[in-house]
Amino acid sequence: METMSSNEKQKIVDALSKKGANLPCPRCNTKNFTLLDGYFNQTIQQKLTADLVLGGPSVPSIIVVCNNCGYISQHALGVLGLLPNDEEKK
Ligand SMILES: [Zn+2]
Repeated sequence: METMSSNEKQKIVDALSKKGANLPCPRCNTKNFTLLDGYFNQTIQQKLTADLVLGGPSVPSIIVVCNNCGYISQHALGVLGLLPNDEEKK
């Protein structure tokens, strides 16, 4: 599996810094985090049915984990301007 390039990771870190998303962990106040080497792409389930939704709308995001308590935070790539289509517009 291909992983994120260091260039890709730097773009994410820069985007988070630019937005001021650099405060300590909201759970334990530690300032050390790890950017996971991949993306979440969570499906939006539009109705509460038992059916599994595949191929529906989703929220591609990056994952930041607190190095001390493991608190997981996610940031939507679209808001950070990091979706592939956003890159093409620039
Ligand atoms: Zn923490």
